[in-house]
Amino acid sequence: MDSVHILGLRVDRSDMPGALASIEQWIGQGDGPRHVVTADASMVVLAHGDPELARIVENADLVTPDGAGILWASKLLRSQITSKVSGVDLVSEMCRLSAQHGYRLYFLGAAPEVAAEAARNLEARYPGAKIVGARDGYFKPEEENDVIQAIREASPDVLFVAFGIPKQEKWITRLKEELGVPVSLGIGGSFDVYSG
Ligand code: UDP
Repeated sequence: MDSVHILGLRVDRSDMPGALASIEQWIGQGDGPRHVVTADASMVVLAHGDPELARIVENADLVTPDGAGILWASKLLRSQITSKVSGVDLVSEMCRLSAQHGYRLYFLGAAPEVAAEAARNLEARYPGAKIVGARDGYFKPEEENDVIQAIREASPDVLFVAFGIPKQEKWITRLKEELGVPVSLGIGGSFDVYSG
């Protein structure tokens, strides 16, 4: 993947059609858990002081430019990233594609009821979208095995994780093999946007 580095953080020259094509290809291949990072300006700052986060992003399968701060920095670097690919937009685009192709989506994260309400709203907006599970992001460590089990049983193609940066990136990295989901994405506060 063609990438730039903004204060050491990898960001890929990816646009929405390209990001969706990669995700659909990985769903089809099912050849191992893939990790998609949506990188915004706050991630650049956090990763500067968090080498583990920077390493996770460096090793991700795709790092999308999420937000005006990234576009501004990449313009200064003359890196030709010209359009953002945000977590918020990836969630709705994948719901649209789920309605067309039957992809199974799982929503994990945000406050109690927020993911479930976002799922209901998006299913209404994209009739036929298959959101096969929704759960909040405030479970206790001793409940983690139940969370993993529920996701495995729902057998999603795509897992959206909304715990905020860097918790979601570290959680996906630690558990992606065990979860066995073809594509996992960290998407920050995106469910909050769709739950209103
Ligand atoms: N969150 C969560 N579990 C936690 C901490 C946060 O589910 O232990 C959720 C929170 O409710 C919110 C999202 O994670 O929906 C973080 O949103 P924010 O916009 O702060 O994310 P970021 O800016 O880090 O992408």
